Amino acid sequence: MILVLDRKVTQNQKDKIKNILSEQGCITREMTDAGRNIIGVIGKTKISPDEFKQMQGIYDAVPIETSYKLVSRNFKSEDTKVKIGNVVVGADRIVVIAGPCAVESHTQAMTIAKQVKKYGAVLFRGGAYKPRSSPYSFQGLEEEGLKILADVREQTGLGVVTEMTSVSQVDLMMKYVDVVQIGARNMQNFELLKCVGRIDKPVLLKRGLASTIQEWLMSAEYIMAGGYNNVMLCERGIRTFEPYTRNTLDLCAIPVLKKLTHLPIIIDPSHATGIREKVSPMARAAIAAGADALMIEVHNNPDKALSDGPQSLYPEVLIP
Ligand code: PEP
Ligand code: MN
Repeated sequence: MILVLDRKVTQNQKDKIKNILSEQGCITREMTDAGRNIIGVIGKTKISPDEFKQMQGIYDAVPIETSYKLVSRNFKSEDTKVKIGNVVVGADRIVVIAGPCAVESHTQAMTIAKQVKKYGAVLFRGGAYKPRSSPYSFQGLEEEGLKILADVREQTGLGVVTEMTSVSQVDLMMKYVDVVQIGARNMQNFELLKCVGRIDKPVLLKRGLASTIQEWLMSAEYIMAGGYNNVMLCERGIRTFEPYTRNTLDLCAIPVLKKLTHLPIIIDPSHATGIREKVSPMARAAIAAGADALMIEVHNNPDKALSDGPQSLYPEVLIP
């Protein structure tokens, strides 16, 4: 439920409304949206919209029918802009996040970071904890990788994005990185989602391999229900019957999400296609469809990459 407040509402009236709702077990969020002062109500209340409208200080009461509330466009009509240092995702400029699938060494990460910066990337990505399908594949440099990322930030000024695979990594993430990525395989790891909702770090939430848009939004809701608003959604391809590409990039998700949610949308054409030469056309298509940002895997020596070499661009191809 959204309670639109009277322009002349008093603090006393607002406190009274919030107290009544909290006694009924509801969570309330006070915010402004499109010039309106509102209280968002999450949870079941026995009070009907008509009864709310009779209360002092309330101008209107609008029920939200969807199972996700805080992420919903009905709840907040203005686009959310996520600030990462001086980079803003969800504003006028297309943000390019680029870097290797995994941080492999200090030299590798630093070399790629300097190159992607030169070619227009404003954030650097690189996994330190890699959720690999096989336990025998390279699992990442772990804390050592995070330290390398922190040094990349120090030396290049690029904010760094990395994946968190377990709640036990939360303190390390707070210490070393700028954006926490929740990977496709963990999109419904609810303890992980609740955990990142409690910390003060922008979150990049990837879509699960076989998740619906509704499930994805519910996962974003988990993070926001924890009180954290800076969530970005990243479409990275879904699993379909088509084996030619690694996944199928669901570009329809962009206009669908733009209607349903105020959160910014990032497209990852690298994992979506799995094929280097298909990355640029899908990146362009994503921008045409309204994406706010791109996340692209780049490697200086893709043939020797410890993960995802075949889909990694050469740095100079990054911005054609
Ligand atoms: C990645 O970004 O390298 C990654 C593992 O992505 P996803 O979770 O989309 O597979
Ligand atoms: Mn990868």
